[in-house]
This record gives sequence, C-alpha cells and structure tokens, in this order.
Amino acid sequence: MAHIRIIGGGISGSILALRAHMSGHSIDWWKYGRPSASLVASGIYNPTVLKRLKLVWRAAELARCAEEFYANTNALLESEWAAPIPIWHRMQEKGKVNDWEARSADAGFTEFLGPIHGKKEVYGELKMAGRLLVMPWLNEVEQFMAQRHRVVNQRWRVDEHLDGTTTVLCTGWKKDSLPYGIPENAMAPVKGEVLTLRLPGYPHPEKIIHGGVFIMPLGNELFKVGATYSWDPLDERPSDQGRDWLLDRLAKLWPGPVEQVRHEAAVRPAVRDRKPILGAVEGHKGLYIFNGMGSRATLLAPLLSEWMLDHIFRSIPLPPEVELRRFFE
Ligand SMILES: Cc1cc2nc3c(=O)[nH]c(=O)nc-3n(C[C@H](O)[C@H](O)[C@H](O)COP(=O)(O)OP(=O)(O)OC[C@H]3O[C@@H](n4cnc5c(N)ncnc54)[C@H](O)[C@@H]3O)c2cc1C
Repeated sequence: MAHIRIIGGGISGSILALRAHMSGHSIDWWKYGRPSASLVASGIYNPTVLKRLKLVWRAAELARCAEEFYANTNALLESEWAAPIPIWHRMQEKGKVNDWEARSADAGFTEFLGPIHGKKEVYGELKMAGRLLVMPWLNEVEQFMAQRHRVVNQRWRVDEHLDGTTTVLCTGWKKDSLPYGIPENAMAPVKGEVLTLRLPGYPHPEKIIHGGVFIMPLGNELFKVGATYSWDPLDERPSDQGRDWLLDRLAKLWPGPVEQVRHEAAVRPAVRDRKPILGAVEGHKGLYIFNGMGSRATLLAPLLSEWMLDHIFRSIPLPPEVELRRFFE
C-alpha cells in the first residue's frame, strides 16, 4: 500500500493515523508541541444538538461510523478508552419535555432520543453517544504507532519539508501555528474552558449529565465540567470569568461540595460555515488539509478520515460541503 505523511498529533491526526494503519499504509507521523484543543477536550461524541434538539449534519452516518471505529480501535489498542456512555439531558421546563416527546416520535430521531427519566428532576436520555478519554488514548496511539511506523517529534515546515510526498496537515488551530493552506477568514476559532473537579457524594458517577454544562465522570469522584465558548481573547489561558461561569452553572445541577483540581483552556479549530475542511492544497502536489473539526472531532474524524484516504488514494470525490475548495470559489 502507499506511503502517507501525517502532520499533527491531536485527535484528528491520531484518528487519521489509525485509519491509515488499518488500511495498510506505511506512515511517517510528525508531531510537534502538545496537542492543544485535544489536550483539554472532554471527548464526548453525541450527534444531537441539545440546545435546539436538532441533529448534526449526517448524524446517523457519523455516529454509526464512530461507534464502529472506536470498537475496532479498542480491539487494536487492547484498551477501552472509548466507550458508549449514557448522557442524560436535564429539562427544567414542561415545554422542553413536550418537545422531547414530540421529537422522539419523529422517524429521524428515534435512533437518537431515548426515554425520559425522573419526576422531580426530569432527564431525556440520549442514544448513539459515547466518550473517548482523550489524554490516555492519545498516549496509547502514539506508543502503538511508534512500534509500527515512523514517528517524528519535530515541527513540519512547508518551506523545508514539502517534497511531493503525500502529506496531510492535521494541525488544528493554535496561536503559535496557524493552519497552512486554509484562508484565514475561513476559520472561526472558539476558545473553550473546562474544569476538573472532585465532587464528593455526587449521585451520577456512571453517566454524563447535561444541563447548561456537561458533568462527565472520570472515576474516583473526579468529574470534568465544561465547556465555555468565547472569542476574545483567543488564547490558551484559563480565566476567572470562565471558571465562575462553569461553577455557576454547575451549582444549578449539584448543590454539594466542589473541590477544584484543574482548570484548562484551548481554542477549538472551528470554521465559519460550521463544516470541517478537507482537500488538496492548490499548487502543492500531494499536500492535503484535514482540519476544522470545531467542537466535535471525536464524532467527525472517524468518518472523515475514511473520506480523506478514499479521496487521496482512490480519487473518490469529497462531499462538496467539506471541500477546502469552497473557500476559493
Ligand atoms: C474546552 C473544550 C472542550 C471540548 N470538548 C470536546 C468534546 O467533548 N468532544 C469533542 O469531540 N471535541 C471537543 N472539543 C473540541 C476538540 O478539542 C477539537 O475538535 C479537537 O481537539 C481538534 O483536534 P485537532 O487534532 O484537529 O487539533 P489540535 O488538538 O489542535 O491538534 C493539532 C496538533 O498539531 C500540531 N501541529 C501544528 N502544526 C504543526 C506542525 N507544523 N508540525 C507538527 N505538528 C503540528 C499541534 O501542536 C497540535 O498538537 C473541545 C474543545 C475544547 C477547547
């Protein structure tokens, strides 16, 4: 099979690398710096947009592919960092409960919206959702790849290293390494903050609760609570404002004790039209982009990595909605 060079060691680069490995390609994987957005991501994959009770673009295809991909890669890595997990969405108003009931009867939603639980506190259960424990998984993918392929811990530079080899840039968005090949105005990056907290006595240690914020169990009374969305400043520094906003929303779901363990921030590689960006960079033979996963890399990248490889090695066209070319027309 063919050779491929993958640049970037975040969720996108790691999923593309695993997909390329499973397809039998030989790989050079260039990783530089610590992953940014991937370092703080909660890793939840969920095809339902809870605020508006809508489905994301191509929800069923993405969710099925993610489920299959994580089951296969768990087997490959001999680990269980990715797993389905119940997500319960808290509904405070009667109208929301009525909306949930009405929507879940629609043919397109039966796969995604599950039963309603509780009387005093009412929750809708989501289906087709899961969680990737990102940090240990990223480490494991790196070890796995290093034993089978060439991992280069170095920054890849267009001016030095561009040589016609099939190369895919999975470089996300960071202040110190803006993505190459994508027009600046195509990106609409969004800062996000997340807290890791100890919540002694919290009653839902085996499911994700959503209600303004997500409360995601990590084990041993630890939980991730996120996330904020802000645009100014676009940096990777946790802020007092972000922490207060998260704690304020958490208090509406959990009135008990809270101990802060960690507070992190990063910038999501989001796109102006809310679709990812894939495709060949014009004028550079063999150079491709795999970026713009926004706040959903864990859901999007399993299917998109398949599209990317099919496009590169089998000349199968990409769906026009995700093509890099749309920003040049
Ligand atoms: C607070 C927060 C919570 C989130 N929660 C979720 C969630 O629950 N579920 C979900 O799916 N998503 C979530 N996200 C979004 C998710 O983090 C992103 O979609 C994802 O991390 C993007 O991954 P990436 O690999 O494209 O980019 P990145 O994580 O930015 O990785 C890119 C990597 O490429 C490296 N790189 C850049 N240039 C070069 C170069 N020239 N040479 C070599 N390496 C290079 C960078 O150093 C970096 O390591 C969240 C984001 C935030 C901020």
